Amino acid sequence: MASELLRKEETLTMRRQLIGQSCRLFYSDDPVKIVRARGQYIFDENDKRYLDCISNVHHVGHCHPSVTKAATDQMELLNTNTRFLHDNLVLYADRLAATLPERLSVFYFVNSGSEANDLALRLAQQYTQHEDVIVLDHAYHGHLMSLIDISPYKFRKLNGQKEWVHVAPLPDTYRGIYKEDEPNPGLSYADTVKDLIEVVHRKGRKISAFFAESMPSVGGQIILPEGYSAKVAEYVRSAGGVFVADEVQTGFGRVGSHFWAFQMQGADFCPDIVTMGKPMGNGHPIACVVTTVEIASAFTANGVEYFNTFGGNPVSCAIGLAVLDVIEKEDLKGNAKRVGAHLKDLFTRLKSRHEIIGDVRGAGLFVGVELVEDRELRTPATKTAAQVVKRLKMEDRICVSTDGPWESVLKFKPPMCFNMEDAELVVHCIDRILTDIEANMKLEKEDI
Ligand code: PMP
Repeated sequence: MASELLRKEETLTMRRQLIGQSCRLFYSDDPVKIVRARGQYIFDENDKRYLDCISNVHHVGHCHPSVTKAATDQMELLNTNTRFLHDNLVLYADRLAATLPERLSVFYFVNSGSEANDLALRLAQQYTQHEDVIVLDHAYHGHLMSLIDISPYKFRKLNGQKEWVHVAPLPDTYRGIYKEDEPNPGLSYADTVKDLIEVVHRKGRKISAFFAESMPSVGGQIILPEGYSAKVAEYVRSAGGVFVADEVQTGFGRVGSHFWAFQMQGADFCPDIVTMGKPMGNGHPIACVVTTVEIASAFTANGVEYFNTFGGNPVSCAIGLAVLDVIEKEDLKGNAKRVGAHLKDLFTRLKSRHEIIGDVRGAGLFVGVELVEDRELRTPATKTAAQVVKRLKMEDRICVSTDGPWESVLKFKPPMCFNMEDAELVVHCIDRILTDIEANMKLEKEDI
């Protein structure tokens, strides 16, 4: 058992004094203090085990020994920056290239998803010589100022929308403007982007990029309808812009069927720029932008060096390579497919017994369960979702969080070693909690 340096109350007091209060804690009423972790499990200061359904960053499992070894071996030998020639950088880029379509072949390594998206914005603007960006409603692309500007999820709470940012409807067939009964929702939603481009042109402005997550996560674990991305790419390119796929949450086999979530949109679709981050280093800060030779050449042509002190250093690349090795050796993509399908199936069965479950959606180990107060009206059951999260932690030591514009979607993005028993346990516990909540609701109604 790992030793604790401070008692939990002391840690909390110091945190409140020393750390900015906008850096929020999970379960702020009674936060979990973690002292060690392994696989899909985290352990608190009393060595109590919690099942982690949240940490998509610890992709191959918390503290995976192969990743730890790769990091320490390389740290003992050398860590420097990309101005020196080193094998790890090129070997890692080559391994990533093998997972991507051929035209995505030039890499820039950075330290966070935000840095990756900021660089993607620069690449797009430099290549197109246009400024404007189209983003999806409710999207989040990072914490830098440039990304707050293109994240409706954030800018709506702040100083509002910049004139160069345009918001397209979220292609959500459960809550959006076109629902599951729309004959071709992919095309209908893509046409909203076409219309938006026309509005932008009428203002005398020009599109540099369409920016979207390959599966919008903050938006509520949304699966893009078939044919959407290819059609949007066609419209955006004919307006002289590029298609940026944010795979910061969704990449590295999480969707089970493919290595990248954008590949779910069909073999004829390829973004112009892809950004990646969170799972890349299994917790070590490493992220990346990959693009085409043409876009990269335009970025080089301005004559300004791109230098990133830590991005792509030998230790980060050794870790990145080890993560790819583990994904392959342990068939974690296959595991995501099998366990994710089981999890979704169990939740779908639960839906037939609990009115409060409005929708179950997902791909691989990226699953969302949307709770509603009324199935017909699809009223978000925000309070119930929060109650489920709290009770799962208190009663079952299972960590789950919520997402979506109304925080009404229970989201599951666990480490990729999540297994069948974990899936069954989570669904069993949610079943028990929902049964209890529904019984209480019934009693309350009878009282009235
Ligand atoms: N893009 C997406 C889709 C994200 O979810 C996040 C982080 N939640 C980011 C970008 C920013 O990544 P980071 O926090 O590593 O800067």
